[in-house]
Amino acid sequence: MESARQVKANEIPLESIKCDGQSYLVPSSDGQRKYRVTAISCTCKDHERTGNSCKHMLAVERLCPPAKFQGDPFEGF
Ligand SMILES: [Zn+2]
Repeated sequence: MESARQVKANEIPLESIKCDGQSYLVPSSDGQRKYRVTAISCTCKDHERTGNSCKHMLAVERLCPPAKFQGDPFEGF
């Protein structure tokens, strides 16, 4: 069963996510902003507030399976 957050992550088109070599830029749902996302962090309010994986981090994980983040603590996935 998918969480609401996972469902929202699935709504983010993968082709809209940009990689700059060190992190990913994921557009906000309204398209007005971009969040900087790594395997363990995101600059959005949701992640700042809860410290949990937000929909942006989940979207990046979908784009880039955890194997690519080797060495980073992608625990809980
Ligand atoms: Zn986020």
